[in-house]
Amino acid sequence: MSKSDGGLHRLQGRGACLQGKIVLAGPCSVESEQQIMDAALQLGKLGLSALRAGIWKPRTRPGSFQGVGEAALPWLKAAGKAAKLPVACEVAQPAHVDACLAHGIDILWIGARTTVNPFSVQALADRLRGVDLPVMVKNPVNPDLELWLGAIERLRRAGVTKIAAVHRGFSTARQTIYRNEPIWRIPLELRRRLPEVPLICDPSHMGGTRELLKPISQEALDLLYDGLMIEAHPRPEKAQSDAGQQITPARLRSLLASLVPKKENALVRDYTSHIAALRKEVDGLDHQLLDCLSRRMEIVRQMSHYKEKYGVSSFQPHRWSDIVKDRTRYGAARALDQDFVLEIFDHIHEEAIRQQEQEADVIPPEATDHKRHRRAR
Ligand code: PEP
Ligand code: MN
Repeated sequence: MSKSDGGLHRLQGRGACLQGKIVLAGPCSVESEQQIMDAALQLGKLGLSALRAGIWKPRTRPGSFQGVGEAALPWLKAAGKAAKLPVACEVAQPAHVDACLAHGIDILWIGARTTVNPFSVQALADRLRGVDLPVMVKNPVNPDLELWLGAIERLRRAGVTKIAAVHRGFSTARQTIYRNEPIWRIPLELRRRLPEVPLICDPSHMGGTRELLKPISQEALDLLYDGLMIEAHPRPEKAQSDAGQQITPARLRSLLASLVPKKENALVRDYTSHIAALRKEVDGLDHQLLDCLSRRMEIVRQMSHYKEKYGVSSFQPHRWSDIVKDRTRYGAARALDQDFVLEIFDHIHEEAIRQQEQEADVIPPEATDHKRHRRAR
């Protein structure tokens, strides 16, 4: 599935929808032979890249609909055939891989609850050895880029060459408007490290509601994602899983028509000359920011000598609380988002303490290295 190997990218722009992008759609779960056939025939008119549907559903609580299981594989395959669409299905165990291979499933995906477990991913990778089927790897439920990269690496080592990464958002303890909060910088870092791996966004599991599908999908396109995977069901309100986030094929058609794919560059003079001038200004400001930070750390290191001399702690809870109040207020008056300002000062403060402790020889440099690694991850 790398961009040049004729994998999933070959599925781009097969039809009318979203020029040049990979678009997979289909119900959360196969529920019956009729339901998946209805879905496929309606979706088949949209020019999608592939039909998706779950057969084995990883549900949070037992007792809810767990998917039809292997019996649904021939229904899915037949529905894909009728709609002339390749079919994609989630696998979580080696036995699922065997069943998918036996029924000619075209694309597999590894769900968020499986990516999180290296034992499970390795077992899937071992079963896929010698079978070069396209595999999409969803992000793990927790925001851990290394786990996501590790899953991709396990598949690659097993000889899987057609791999895509799917951002479906992360679980968080915070109350947000999302079912699974997108953390866009994590997949962007994945893209920086593995630029050849197509990046797909799953706005359905991120948003958890129909209303959020459009803004999330557009954001993904603004960030140059290679594709979208969206849940669509012939009768969403009757769906046996994820009813609140699925849309009808008709609504999917209008959603796709309303989205605007973006390009990385525009080769017109009006764009190139203005952007070049503005970028020059940004470069200068970034250098000023770094000069300021460097000077700030220098002062912080000077303070550590006085703190050390009089047995004062490098961490000052009251001072820190004052800084947070002052900087967020100062930033807000300059149209800067409070959370953004707070996050920046969290990092600055953490680094300031690290530098003070190192300066005062309280801890050897290696002892604070983990902080650097954590940030670099
Ligand atoms: C799904 O795509 O149906 C699914 C279960 O997704 P996730 O693994 O992202 O929860
Ligand atoms: Mn679902």
